[in-house]
Amino acid sequence: MMRAAVIGCGISGIASAFYLRQRNIEVDLYESEDRIGGRIGSELLLGRWLDFGGKNVGKNYSLFRDFVRECGIHDYEYFGFNTSQIIDGRVVKINKEGAKLFNTLRFISLCGFDGIRKLYPHVEAILKDRSQGVLNSEYFNMLAEKYDHVSLAGYLKEPCLSHVVRPVTVRMNGAEPDECYPGNFGSNLALIIDSYEQLKKGMHGMLDAFQTSAEHRLLKILTGHRVTSVSSGTVKGSIRIASLNKGVPSTAVYDKVISALPAIRLSLLLEEHLPEASGLLRQVRYYPVAVAIVKYRHDVFQKTQRAMVFDHTFPLSNIGAYGINDLDLVRYTFSGRVSRTVISDSSVPEDVVALGENIASPYFAIRDNTRLSFAYRYISEGLCAYSPFHYRLLRDIDKKLSSITGFGATGDYRRGASIEACFRAAGECVDKLLGSEH
Ligand SMILES: Cc1cc2nc3c(=O)[nH]c(=O)nc-3n(C[C@H](O)[C@H](O)[C@H](O)COP(=O)(O)OP(=O)(O)OC[C@H]3O[C@@H](n4cnc5c(N)ncnc54)[C@H](O)[C@@H]3O)c2cc1C
Repeated sequence: MMRAAVIGCGISGIASAFYLRQRNIEVDLYESEDRIGGRIGSELLLGRWLDFGGKNVGKNYSLFRDFVRECGIHDYEYFGFNTSQIIDGRVVKINKEGAKLFNTLRFISLCGFDGIRKLYPHVEAILKDRSQGVLNSEYFNMLAEKYDHVSLAGYLKEPCLSHVVRPVTVRMNGAEPDECYPGNFGSNLALIIDSYEQLKKGMHGMLDAFQTSAEHRLLKILTGHRVTSVSSGTVKGSIRIASLNKGVPSTAVYDKVISALPAIRLSLLLEEHLPEASGLLRQVRYYPVAVAIVKYRHDVFQKTQRAMVFDHTFPLSNIGAYGINDLDLVRYTFSGRVSRTVISDSSVPEDVVALGENIASPYFAIRDNTRLSFAYRYISEGLCAYSPFHYRLLRDIDKKLSSITGFGATGDYRRGASIEACFRAAGECVDKLLGSEH
């Protein structure tokens, strides 16, 4: 029987293992941490598991929803699209629960004429064919050829840049519009036009179900195993991976290996054996994000206003209610350029939470509320902002990687950072690697 290894057990690794198992291939899944999940991982707060990374599931996430169903999970709760921002000193709300016409007019005024003129054709292209709303799609590669010599900040004008584009890039890419490119914006646009739910038992429930089901399938999850290098094996067509478990080195040989790591992590593994591929992978940009989830004694939000985005002068990019019925549970997200100058992996979590509270308290019931508890996570390679002419870089990376027969690479830099895009990329990677073999 064919044996495969998947490196990394975030959602991309889980998706890769899922598709390999569908082809009846025995899989070893290597994860450097003691727990699986990567950036969809959760933390325990006052007896409840809370998700710190990806948790919102779009109505259009068909591949991920199929997987979740296979895990035996069927319960979702409405999350919606509800946000607000301060414009000229006034709080401007936008949400999908309000009157449709009113929200559409508000969105048009936030975009301005230039924004509508430039963005609407791209939205239309995605609505016509959903498969275009990802990185490296035919439509957006054409756009990249035309416009990626400038960033989004050069491609679009105000007020669209500040009021529509930045709230999206800072949240989805951890980056400012001048750090993102038009050819990659389709993967963001597809997410803006979706609407969202959450798994009732969170990502934690899904990860638990996946781990339990792995025991019955030919799928071995090796937590605490950090892969240190990948190279061609001595037998033709085989791949050798070296790993460390509690400081003890070991090696194993497989027929197929999939990297499901962020580009920057894969670049480190290939430094010795494939330095050129490693150098190309390093060109994919990642930015840090810090997330704090704080439980207060009383509600902080109202049902009609559950989130707010802050402009480029603040380190806090947004604040939101954890769920539609969790108005006392606040998720603070710090990303973007200013955040990078004031928050690092050595920041004291308590200070970061206090910073968020100071910024948001004029708008929400925080000051006279009691903070009961909080959990905090800083992810240094938190959000992927891709690269200009990203599809060309992917093509060059794949050319270099093809020198290791049987090796494939997937992850958030392939089709986009959403959980659904990670599933799509993983499925394509497995198909490419195996063709019609199984
Ligand atoms: C704050 C935040 C909010 C988000 N919100 C949403 C959302 O609401 N909806 C949505 O669709 N998406 C969201 N996303 C995006 C989504 O969560 C990520 O794109 C996705 O989780 C990335 O998964 P991945 O498996 O590609 O990478 P990762 O989750 O980073 O997984 C990589 C794994 O590899 C392991 N690893 C690293 N090096 C090694 C090694 N040498 N050997 C073995 N293992 C290794 C890591 O420990 C990790 O577990 C969000 C992301 C963040 C950060």
